[in-house]
Amino acid sequence: MDKPIIFDQERKELTLEYMRDHYGIIQESPTIVPKMIVLHWTVIPTFEKSFEAFENPKLPNSRPEIAAASSLNVSSQFLVDRDGTIYRLMPETTMARHVIGLNHCAIGVENVGGTADTPLTKAQLKSNIWLVKYLKAKYNIDYLLGHYEYTDFVDTDLWKEKDDGYRTKKSDPGPKFMAKVRKATKKLGFKPVPAPEGK
Ligand SMILES: [Zn+2]
Repeated sequence: MDKPIIFDQERKELTLEYMRDHYGIIQESPTIVPKMIVLHWTVIPTFEKSFEAFENPKLPNSRPEIAAASSLNVSSQFLVDRDGTIYRLMPETTMARHVIGLNHCAIGVENVGGTADTPLTKAQLKSNIWLVKYLKAKYNIDYLLGHYEYTDFVDTDLWKEKDDGYRTKKSDPGPKFMAKVRKATKKLGFKPVPAPEGK
């Protein structure tokens, strides 16, 4: 289902600014050529609160740890509710801020939950597998990764972040969830995630 977040002139300009300042990419519209799918969890137990976190163009004051890098709010192209309903928050090829270094080529899939009381559900797993297949059929996608694996791309050509100090530690959506999605999408032939940084 389409449930668009606010993507007004302000968000467009903040996105273009982010592309320029962090990646050295200068474009007239904030579009991406998808090369990877990044799976996440929101660590917010409800759909409503998760959607609210992404809705506005600017970051809320509660995120000082990433606000220094840009005031563009975080978002992702998809948000999967706990019952498995898939919401498309923005066009698939518009850049969302969800993964440092790689937003210029990554489609993000957020899952509601991930707190101690709200582990991801079987319905979400099913929907993530469906979405991965749908996106792989539509775009020339090489990689499928969990957010916690993003720094494994630091030494690759896809990594574009200019600020070496801009990193956050991530654990979402967990290795067990990734293993299940990978098993179910094995036939799609994704490339293996590169070796971790420094190895
Ligand atoms: Zn994440």
